[in-house]
Amino acid sequence: AAINPYSAGYPSPWASGGLGWDEAFIKAKEFVAGLTLVEKVNLTTGTGWEADRCVGVTGSVPRLEFRGLCLQDGPLGIRYTTFSRRLMRLRGEAMGSEFRDKGIDVQLGPAAGPLGRVPQGGRNWEGFSPDPYLTGVAMVETIQGIQSRGVIACAKHYILNEQEHFRNSISVKIDDRTLHELYLWPFADSVRAGVGSIMCSYNKVEAIYSCENNWTTNYILKNELSFQGFVVSDWGAQKTTLGSALNGLDMAMPGGPFSPTPGPYSGAIWGGLLTEAVLRGDVPQWRLDDMVVRIMAAYFKVHTGNYTTRPDINFSSWEKKAEGYLHPSSKSSWGVVNDFVNVQRDHAKLIREIGAKSVVLLKNSNSALPLKKPASIAVVGRDAQDDPLGPNACVERACINATVAMGWGSGTAEFPYLISPSTALKARAAADGTAFISTVGNWNLDEAQAVAQNASVAIVFATAHAGEDFVAVDGNKGDRNNLTLWDNGDALIRAVAAVNNNTMVVLHTAGPVVLDYAKAHPNVTAILWAGYPGQESGNGLADVLYGNVNPQGRSPFTWGKSVEEYGAQLLFTAPDPRNPTQSFDEGVFIDYRHFQKAGISPVWEFGFGLSYTTFEYSSLKIVGHTADDTFTPAQVVNEGLTDPAPTFGTLDRSISANIPPVGFKKIWPYVYSWLSGPNVTIAQNTAAVTPATNGSEQRVLPASGAPGGNPRLYDTMYTVTVDIKNTGPAQGTEIPQLYVQLGGEENPWGVLRGFDDVTLAPGETKPVKFELTRRDISNWNSTSQNWEIWSKQKFVFVGSSSSRIRLNATLPTPP
Ligand code: BGC
Repeated sequence: AAINPYSAGYPSPWASGGLGWDEAFIKAKEFVAGLTLVEKVNLTTGTGWEADRCVGVTGSVPRLEFRGLCLQDGPLGIRYTTFSRRLMRLRGEAMGSEFRDKGIDVQLGPAAGPLGRVPQGGRNWEGFSPDPYLTGVAMVETIQGIQSRGVIACAKHYILNEQEHFRNSISVKIDDRTLHELYLWPFADSVRAGVGSIMCSYNKVEAIYSCENNWTTNYILKNELSFQGFVVSDWGAQKTTLGSALNGLDMAMPGGPFSPTPGPYSGAIWGGLLTEAVLRGDVPQWRLDDMVVRIMAAYFKVHTGNYTTRPDINFSSWEKKAEGYLHPSSKSSWGVVNDFVNVQRDHAKLIREIGAKSVVLLKNSNSALPLKKPASIAVVGRDAQDDPLGPNACVERACINATVAMGWGSGTAEFPYLISPSTALKARAAADGTAFISTVGNWNLDEAQAVAQNASVAIVFATAHAGEDFVAVDGNKGDRNNLTLWDNGDALIRAVAAVNNNTMVVLHTAGPVVLDYAKAHPNVTAILWAGYPGQESGNGLADVLYGNVNPQGRSPFTWGKSVEEYGAQLLFTAPDPRNPTQSFDEGVFIDYRHFQKAGISPVWEFGFGLSYTTFEYSSLKIVGHTADDTFTPAQVVNEGLTDPAPTFGTLDRSISANIPPVGFKKIWPYVYSWLSGPNVTIAQNTAAVTPATNGSEQRVLPASGAPGGNPRLYDTMYTVTVDIKNTGPAQGTEIPQLYVQLGGEENPWGVLRGFDDVTLAPGETKPVKFELTRRDISNWNSTSQNWEIWSKQKFVFVGSSSSRIRLNATLPTPP
């Protein structure tokens, strides 16, 4: 019932430029108009799994010396717990530069799905936060950072891929309002930020696979949000030729069967099949042209300024040595596959800064931290140590035999090196003349106690790991089975705290763990969540422990006392495992929104984090802006209709024009876009034009109008200011957060709608400004298919977390 009347047989909207896309669109049209049918199809389809050196490579246009596009993982793991836009942007730029210099065209990240509906979600760590506003900001900064360096970003996984169990078959039921206000929100931000590509996910939405879903792709993403780039399938997430082509998929990855045996991965099927479908008339030329225009528009959009040429692909995903097969799947073309181009620049400094500023200080009794040259330090736990076989010894990072600094699966990157906490702390101790002792075994509690008991400070390291479903670690198939610490971590903390009254806990976990006992334990003086900090792990942590960096991380999720407290639960077993379904009945109430509604006080709330100084909030002011005019529905802006679908160039539809040149030897299992041979017969589809193939002008949806949706949604309606004063002893950075109560039972107690980071010297005061847009105070109306401001009393809260509210005011009625 939630699905609107347009959900069936709606034609896939064609790109038309707008908001940063116009120039790229003109170049793309010109380029595409000069291509043959097979060349066009080549750009839409991967050459096959492990057929080339990147995880995905499209076919090329040799005639124009245009090499195929290289698509490469991934989102790269540090979660933005800093709530710092500056660091988010710098991280995006740094990744973009590195990807570009390796010859990569498309970086397969950042991720806004999973959003984090359930805390155990195996891939939550690849993204940012279960709060859509925070994730949206992080997506925008990351995408613009990556694309500013000449690399196309890919917002993934679209949409509702919230768990790893059954990810290839689960069907999610969701209401239209929840979709818009929660899961779609950060993707809308991504589209508005100009993201060049979006990856459709493995799961089904309302019983239809995401990569052939008319509702989510054609209707919402391409019409309502007016997405101008291309939709690429997750690897093997494409299921049918026509279903995907007509329902908005633009690029099939990795091309060919992803796995030789039939099964969930065996469905990436374009190439010659799309050529055939176009010749048959099942897929109209305008749809094929639109796919290629979108791909090339994204390409031209990022290739401007200093980035007009492309470095060659100079690495291989499949080989560590210098030489190997250029086409591993067919074991053909031996040669140099890795040039070992060093792309690191001085990024180590930034990684260390992000690592340190992402640490969330959860507990600090009696100012135990920062450390002041302690006489002795004991470091306890495997999670502090180096892997003797090197930081990449563990395949896909799927193990816990040393310090954990990223999750596992396709979201990982290779470590150039990894500074373990033990290494960094030992170096500090040596410099300070502090005695240093450490132990590795997590299961020998006697040994741990012996090492810890006489130290001035005992630091216990613990982990809870997560990743992608194709590997299981300790019985966890991607998603975590529970919220306890791994590797005997809870027992280790209890054992050490029993013998040392200055026990500190450092966590490298994929998300929240149950830690109420440690919070309450009098001998546990400090608790720090360091997330997955990456290669400079130990250095960044030491900066915080010793006070070189005053902690400014804030928890991007809620810490509960049990998994049940979170409300929404993961589906671990299904009555019919071939057809698992799940209804997101909790609606918009996940994470802190749920805890507040259910009246559960968490161990630590969303947005919480301590500092070595204190801050005072004052002078909340709200200024309403008289909108220059009133909200103009998009159909008026656009006179309600699109142009008819354009085509670019004339296709030679003869069989002879679409078969391999005489003498060409195909190599198995490389994917080609030609018809199989001269004897192919193409039965023309003479059926009348169907709704899905109808290229005449289409109605523009009410909430549409420009990439990201109606541009008026992003008008600033209120400016909120507060003064923040540093009232403590040290320089520090506060992260003031703004929450809005939209009003009514349907809405959470408060939703995050602004944050900033402000660095203050002791005694210093600075103003902080938040801007509330029309979208920020609107709800989605599924009947009118539009955003609207409900006439409910609204409140503004400003505080240092989702429950530590320092100032509040009613929001005046919109001007
Ligand atoms: C993952 C994607 C990844 C792709 C390519 C898939 O299994 O879900 O996130 O980009 O593989 O490695």
